[in-house]
Amino acid sequence: LRTAAAALKNPITPPVRINHTQLLINGKFVDSVSGKTFPTLDPRTGQVIANVAEGDAEDINRAVAAARKAFDEGPWPKMTAHERSRVLLRFADLVDKHIDELAALETWNNGKPYEHAAKIDVPGVARLFRYYAGWADKIHGLTVPADGPYNVQTLHEPIGVAGQIIPWNFPLAMLAWKIAPAIVTGNTVVLKPAEQTPLTALYAAKLLHEAGLPPGVLNIVPGYGPTAGAALASHMDVDKIAFTGSTDTGKIVQELAAKSNLKPVTLELGGKSPFIVFEDANIDMAVEQAHMALFFNQGQCCAAGSRTFIHEHVYDEFLEKAKARAQRCTVGDPFQKGIEQGPQIDTEQFEKILRYIRSGIESNATLECGGDRIGSQGYYIQPTVFSNVKDDMLIAQDEIFGPVQTILKFKDVDEVIKRANTTRYGLAAGVFTKNIDTANTLTRALRVGTVWVNCYYVFDVTIPFGGYKMSGYGREKGIYNLHHYLQVKAVVTPLENPAW
Ligand code: NAD
Repeated sequence: LRTAAAALKNPITPPVRINHTQLLINGKFVDSVSGKTFPTLDPRTGQVIANVAEGDAEDINRAVAAARKAFDEGPWPKMTAHERSRVLLRFADLVDKHIDELAALETWNNGKPYEHAAKIDVPGVARLFRYYAGWADKIHGLTVPADGPYNVQTLHEPIGVAGQIIPWNFPLAMLAWKIAPAIVTGNTVVLKPAEQTPLTALYAAKLLHEAGLPPGVLNIVPGYGPTAGAALASHMDVDKIAFTGSTDTGKIVQELAAKSNLKPVTLELGGKSPFIVFEDANIDMAVEQAHMALFFNQGQCCAAGSRTFIHEHVYDEFLEKAKARAQRCTVGDPFQKGIEQGPQIDTEQFEKILRYIRSGIESNATLECGGDRIGSQGYYIQPTVFSNVKDDMLIAQDEIFGPVQTILKFKDVDEVIKRANTTRYGLAAGVFTKNIDTANTLTRALRVGTVWVNCYYVFDVTIPFGGYKMSGYGREKGIYNLHHYLQVKAVVTPLENPAW
């Protein structure tokens, strides 16, 4: 780690230029009405990499007006499904073409390893847009066999102007998950990226316009949550709001939506997902998957396997191997080859994680490894493992959102089901066992939106993702997300001529 600290003093120069720092409204890059800007930082150093136009309520008004006009007057919702699909496909090709720039910008602004951005995040965007492009001309209503002499049809229509608020942990992926199902169904969008990570959103939006998206269909307004985000959630002319982020902010967004025009809301929020290893599991595989389930993306994943439950008979073996794996984890400048973990996103998250580590130590969990920062600049944290964790400790209850693995011991199936479900969250779970009865029991009993059995983080675009309980509601990806962007209209016509 000392060597790593020395190397971190001289960060690698990112191989990309920043071309877009203004708001994108009605197809044009513009300054904010107030003329204000805000700094966006490099998590490797905490230094400013660009000043970005700061949108607030006035800019949201302008963006919503542009989206409204593009929806009401077209051409987007009135174009053929095939034509809309072509735009999404052309964008996917442009993403492939600009993969290096997009990945470099994503790493520079977010701190995730460049190899992950280039091999997972960016290709995932292209794959997702191709998937949703395929849905364009396969969305249709039903003919309904109503009683009486009536021809009854349902029409699936776009809902209107969609407001979308996204977090900083997967800036491009979250943007893609939100935008693609909204626009393929003929909606128009105002999206607010997280204040920490506005750069790739602006770059991607530029590429979408290059792909033929008409002006006003997608508007990007970088800015802060309580100003730009709140203005979007409470706007009277926004027809739907989709949010990903913390549970506390999700509650605010839902309240703002209810107090304004009762727009429907979908929420993808936090988690404290159980990762459960039974005594018959392949322990080496479980160790590796548990490591990835927690440490991937610097631990900044809503679905992180952040309560690692291990059967008492394999606990000691698992712990020893999990600790060794965490100690092997390569932390460093995310632009360097072979790096698994980069810096945390910002000083707030960094301090919060260190506070949780202190809380773990104070509550008498055993610190197996890590527990401190790395170097003296940027937001690097040592991969940290706690054992002897008890359910009532803060580190076993709160979303830490950092590289801190918490390992708990259990005795039997009923006990672990009860403990796994004793949380306000319900996003995901991992179950490791070779026994099909155990697997079937767990997959039914766990109150979560995704159960991965003998695997974790399989995030194909076809698989719906979302939460139970305070992890939110609604589903993203797959066919399910399309329904959140469609209205169903019933049309009833007499079969015989009425007596006019
Ligand atoms: P956050 O929920 O405050 O921010 C997410 C988005 O919401 C950002 O775009 C932000 O600007 C916006 N926002 C904030 N306040 C708002 C408001 N009043 N009205 C409308 N929009 C608003 O999350 P954060 O502060 O960046 O992170 C805090 C914690 O949230 C993290 O430690 C982690 O536990 C959790 N988190 C979860 C996810 C996830 O994917 N589920 C992502 C990021 C953070």
